Amino acid sequence: MIIKIYENLCKGIKGCGNCIEVCPKKLFINSGNLNKKGYILPKIVDPNQCIHCKKCELICPEMAISVLEESG
Ligand code: SF4
Ligand code: SF4
Repeated sequence: MIIKIYENLCKGIKGCGNCIEVCPKKLFINSGNLNKKGYILPKIVDPNQCIHCKKCELICPEMAISVLEESG
């Protein structure tokens, strides 16, 4: 599974953090990195554990996450 985070759309885990809260596998953590707007970004710890529920993609208010099936 590929979980793509469009970093410059993210509003940051301090102001939002929905992805960290919602993921049933707890795959989102604090990356410690900032985007161009100065927001602290999440990162994915182990994409192989993703169950493709798409809760993260659906809950993100900024549409900053895409969950993609790996192809070929
Ligand atoms: S699709 Fe589901 S399991 Fe995968 S990262 Fe998003 S919330 Fe977590
Ligand atoms: S849900 Fe979206 S905007 Fe909120 S912290 Fe996660 S990636 Fe950023």
